[in-house]
Amino acid sequence: MTAYKDMTLDQRRAEYAALQTAFADLKAQGLKLDMTRGKPCKDQLDMVSDIFDMLKEPEDYIVDGIDIRNYGALSGLPEAKRLFANLLDCKPKQVFVGGNASLQLMYGVIDCAFIHGRLNSPRPWCKEPVVKWLCPAPGYDRHFKLTESFGFELITIPMTSTGPDMDAVEEAIKDPAVKGIWCVPKYSNPEGIIYSKDTIVRMASMKPAAPDFTIMWDNAYCIHEFDGDYVEFPDILHQCKKYGNYDMVYEFASTSKITFPGDGVACMATSEANLEDFEKWIGIQTISYDKVNQQRHVLYLQNRAHTLKLMKKHAAFMKPKFEAVLSTLDREIAPLEIASWSHPKGGYFVSFDAMPGTAKRTLALCKEAGVAMTAAGATFPYGIDPNDSNIRIAPSFPPVEDVEKAIAVFCTCVKMSALEKLGV
Ligand code: PMP
Repeated sequence: MTAYKDMTLDQRRAEYAALQTAFADLKAQGLKLDMTRGKPCKDQLDMVSDIFDMLKEPEDYIVDGIDIRNYGALSGLPEAKRLFANLLDCKPKQVFVGGNASLQLMYGVIDCAFIHGRLNSPRPWCKEPVVKWLCPAPGYDRHFKLTESFGFELITIPMTSTGPDMDAVEEAIKDPAVKGIWCVPKYSNPEGIIYSKDTIVRMASMKPAAPDFTIMWDNAYCIHEFDGDYVEFPDILHQCKKYGNYDMVYEFASTSKITFPGDGVACMATSEANLEDFEKWIGIQTISYDKVNQQRHVLYLQNRAHTLKLMKKHAAFMKPKFEAVLSTLDREIAPLEIASWSHPKGGYFVSFDAMPGTAKRTLALCKEAGVAMTAAGATFPYGIDPNDSNIRIAPSFPPVEDVEKAIAVFCTCVKMSALEKLGV
């Protein structure tokens, strides 16, 4: 295969004509494939559905003297705190266990800061003339939408292979209007990057101008290796404390991709002072979360070692799908030198950088051929990718045969849009 840039115009035209024929054949198949979001597949959900057998007898509902069916224990069951502390390598007293969505806890933290202010806030964030927020990109669209919904000004920070560009972060935090940053430190969404030790230390030891600067440390994929063994990862609370920034960070995680996205348990870990402040406000919204589900998870997951065994079973579903994507891209696209992509070992996504100016066109072609993917631009603040290049591939949900079909369509569309850009 010749790289497209080395082809003559005639060669490119011949290639494009062949692709048009292939595209017409694909369209004629009437495919209806969905690779838009990072969801576990049905087999994964079936695999863990025996969690519902955990609680049977009336006495199962009395735990540590607490009737888990009743009100109370707002910050979570003690054993649920212990479980999450074990998963995240922090202390149970630093953990708040909530409902099913970590995203809701993230919203809660920002909402409380907006309405009431944080511990060190000069005033509630809603009283600030402007709140600016650092968004390492490509990143998670729901993070960006959350801070956008409060009217914050989103500032793009480039991602590097070791995490957010820390030079850019350290420069940006000199502005006291910059109140926080989004981070997905392990198997980042979408690139699958693990922040390096150096990045973590620089992050934990920052000296922001804003006294209430907030790191939103979303460790959504903390134990989500699908290729290889569990990778140890430093505890950010310990790191921040070490550098005198104990109140600066909130860490989040959930069992959305360990048990169920629709019926899991989410947690937040932060300093005791932050927890006390958060509980004060959250206690006005709810008297308690679903402790029955928390207890089911305590009994089912037990501890980190036991949970990691379960993650190996999830990996058995995930790995072939990622391999289907990566091997096809390596074979079909790499020799053409028109794109690059990540080779993650965990998380739920592959990040694909198409030839600049072709992502939207590629996904429009995919749609025409019946393959739905996350919208181009979604991985950037305000949904705008300045290079129109990044595409998030989410292969976890469809069966592997469908992933193979979808990625074949995707490759055809990537090639067509690149040739159109180069001129045919
Ligand atoms: N954070 C990240 C980085 C995610 O990718 C996702 C799900 N795609 C979530 C949070 C959502 O987590 P939860 O289900 O706990 O709200």
